[in-house]
Amino acid sequence: MASYQIEWVGTGSGLNPVLGNTAFIIRGSGDRQLLVDCGATVPTAILKSGAIVGITDYLITHAHGDHFHGLEAAGFYNYFALGRRGDRRPNLFFAGSGVAAAVATALEASMGLIVNDTGEDLPVSLSEYFNIITTDRIQIPGLPEIRCVGRKHVGSLENFGLEIEGGVFYSGDTVEVPPAEPNLIFQDCQFFDGGPGDVHISFSRLCREVPAAVKARTHLVHVGGGWDKVDTQAEGFAGIVKPGDRFEISLEETPAAPVAT
Ligand SMILES: [Zn+2]
Repeated sequence: MASYQIEWVGTGSGLNPVLGNTAFIIRGSGDRQLLVDCGATVPTAILKSGAIVGITDYLITHAHGDHFHGLEAAGFYNYFALGRRGDRRPNLFFAGSGVAAAVATALEASMGLIVNDTGEDLPVSLSEYFNIITTDRIQIPGLPEIRCVGRKHVGSLENFGLEIEGGVFYSGDTVEVPPAEPNLIFQDCQFFDGGPGDVHISFSRLCREVPAAVKARTHLVHVGGGWDKVDTQAEGFAGIVKPGDRFEISLEETPAAPVAT
């Protein structure tokens, strides 16, 4: 795999009716495609575009509805409309067992009962719809390797950002500033300062605490109220990502300079 592509499905917060819930698809050289996060607005978007058919793998960063409630519609669509059952189920990755347990409990309340071919009740678990894999290191053939890293969001809630091969960082939901090293950063951001109880980092804090060189590599996502009233590029950032935006990431390494002997 010489390169891969990130396509944004949504780039808003849980309450952004214009940009939709933050989620993106990673496509590489093979048949597998990974959807990262799947809030309630995401199934409509990927059904409209047709992208849902190509998605073989799902990854959920934490157990908030704007990051996983769409798994119900996606799971039903794969199971009933596409007939992807048994060995053909999509994979569903969780970076931690706490996220996996919380999501399964929430979804099984509404997905836990179907009927069999003769119309009788058939209680099922979430693993009827998805092949569930809990790991903090995701290796999918044809896609970049992903390492899931804990990030502070709501108190002690289990929550992850993603370090994606090729120098890409996705913050997930967080109150933390992004690391300085990645070449391409997708950073959660809110446009108000609520105080110590904030669960997303504010734009004003990012302006103060992120070095200029890092701002230039930082694209803002998961944006809510006020996102359309601030010129983030004037403050040195790469801007706000929009649904449909695509980023091509090269994995070609620059050949090392020959060493004189
Ligand atoms: Zn959240």
